[in-house]
Amino acid sequence: MPESPLVPPGEGFTPALAVVARSLEKIFRQGEVITPADWAAENLVVPDGPYAGERFNPTLTPYLVQPLNAFSDAEAGVNRIVIRKSAQTGFTLLAIAAIGHSIDREPCRIMLVQPTIQAMVDFNKEKLTPAIEESPTLKARVAPQTSRSARGSTMHVKRYPGGALTLAISTSTADLRGKTVKKVVKDEASEYPEDLDGQGSPHQMIAARYEAFLMTGDYKELSISTPVIKGSCYIDAEFELGDQRYWHVPCPACGAQFVFTFGPQFRFNKEHPHDAHYITPCCGTTINSDQKNGMVRKGEWIATAPGPGKHWSYHFDALSSPFVPWDSIAARFLQSKDDPVKQKAFDNLTLGRAHEIRGDAPDHERLMALRESYDRGRIPPQCLLLTAAADVQANGIYVEIVAYAPDRQSWVVDALVIGGDTDDPEAGAFAKLAKLYETKYPDSFGHMRSIDAFGVDSGFRSNVVYAWCRKRPATFALKGGDGWARQPISTPTLVDVNVAGKKIAQGASVWTVGVWALKAQLYAALRKTRVAEGAAEEPAGCLHFGDWMDSHYFVQLTNEYLVDERFKGRLRRVWKERGPNHFLDCRIYNHALADYLGLNRMTPREWQHLAGLRGVPIGAAFGAQPATSPPPPAAPGVEAAPAPAGPPAGPPPEPKTRLVNKPRPQARRSSYMDGW
Ligand SMILES: [Zn+2]
Repeated sequence: MPESPLVPPGEGFTPALAVVARSLEKIFRQGEVITPADWAAENLVVPDGPYAGERFNPTLTPYLVQPLNAFSDAEAGVNRIVIRKSAQTGFTLLAIAAIGHSIDREPCRIMLVQPTIQAMVDFNKEKLTPAIEESPTLKARVAPQTSRSARGSTMHVKRYPGGALTLAISTSTADLRGKTVKKVVKDEASEYPEDLDGQGSPHQMIAARYEAFLMTGDYKELSISTPVIKGSCYIDAEFELGDQRYWHVPCPACGAQFVFTFGPQFRFNKEHPHDAHYITPCCGTTINSDQKNGMVRKGEWIATAPGPGKHWSYHFDALSSPFVPWDSIAARFLQSKDDPVKQKAFDNLTLGRAHEIRGDAPDHERLMALRESYDRGRIPPQCLLLTAAADVQANGIYVEIVAYAPDRQSWVVDALVIGGDTDDPEAGAFAKLAKLYETKYPDSFGHMRSIDAFGVDSGFRSNVVYAWCRKRPATFALKGGDGWARQPISTPTLVDVNVAGKKIAQGASVWTVGVWALKAQLYAALRKTRVAEGAAEEPAGCLHFGDWMDSHYFVQLTNEYLVDERFKGRLRRVWKERGPNHFLDCRIYNHALADYLGLNRMTPREWQHLAGLRGVPIGAAFGAQPATSPPPPAAPGVEAAPAPAGPPAGPPPEPKTRLVNKPRPQARRSSYMDGW
């Protein structure tokens, strides 16, 4: 379509038929105000999930209606809507319905923010674009992406008559700073960084975008997120500041209203079938799982902390979700109760709660008492991965070498301090580190194994570390990154200066490690009761220490603690050092490297394949229970662990591990946000 100054802005792309259709539509809806929920029921085709391809049905998810309608201009005076929710609750559809209604009925400039590029690409591809394409009303409004005109849509900007929807990423100042917008949707708002390159919080930058509408008071900001860490969670804090609405359902026996809550009223068997059910708090009536959805449909939102000037804040979790069976909640709880990594996932993704982290350090004397007798420098029979991490100081380098078993238990193979100057990558301590890098370690089956991934902290002596790593395959220049939303290890950035500070063509990669969350996981694992203290079995991710290790190591390992501190006007939890913590840094880096190698992602069959490559008998790598034989029956009253995969039907797949070559920069989706 030719560009013409006579065509009003945003109208030029519309096919003639759609123009006619819209004129007719305008006549029909003269004076008619349609709520976003009613609009969605008539117009929005669900892009994915169990009801994909069908029109939005508000009777299935009646809890979406009120917060959705609050995003409309008709709900004057409601500016900020905050939703704290678990996974699988349907609130993504609410975001799409809110945006769709605005595009069609209240066109204006809208911004949708996602935490990362990947999240934005996925949201656009899997949800937004299909919703626009499948819903005729939206398809007629939104300029096609194929249009060559400047008025056509792009992946980042969807244009329509009267406005545009911009997709932005929370880590990009360029995205967040720009033109005024009237409506903002912040998806997964708790995953945004706390501070963007020292320029402030992304939430403050986003608020600046609708500042022009503060006087007229008709802006809208919808924030949706699963929560993260208690004390450092945006959605959790904003929920508490709001009027705290919960979905109340009526008791079928006495009519009293209550909220389905994970707690003593929710009952289930420890073994399959869990037969999960709910005892009403009012009159003790038993609610079976097949009654849940009927009751949820009769529910209503009730504010539990109303007050003048408070924004509308909502909590909704899997207990009330029509998409999550109660038995699944019981099963997830049972699977997570001894594993700090899974506990956080259960709190966040199932209960929609922020996860509480204990702020105190584990007791180093207790850890010393738990030391075990095994050989220094030898790989224990269970272990299939071997990593090393080094922390560089002015006069020496701290090194820890750790072996990992498929069940995430780990053994310290060596822990030492290398003395010497650290200002030359070819001499002093770095020459000794090079010898260590080349060392092969005996396993329990007569093989010698190299270190699979060797990480060196580059926070100090950066250029020396880059130079040392650049020459050596499977080495990683690492640096710690602040913040709770970081992945264990993220796609590296390239730095391209040599030791003398001169630019060079072939740069080094620096990998950022999400040290905050890893420290919380480590300390939670260290607190778990061990077999030596009376536990029936070693806890998940158990750490083993040799009796040849001294107190120096244990003091450093436990030398940090969490405090609440004010940061940019908001309370957050941060780590503080009590004293030297070099071995703690080493262990955190080792855990990040093991995650990179696939420790938290490989399937039993992939581990079997790796065991085969390493000449390790399957029975050894999987402890007393070979993965190829059926699991022993669970003891009465004790929940069974998930069954290992059966014997391979064909050749086992290549493991999802990265063991041989120099790592290359590549984007990947870590299991971190889904699972840790
Ligand atoms: Zn009752």
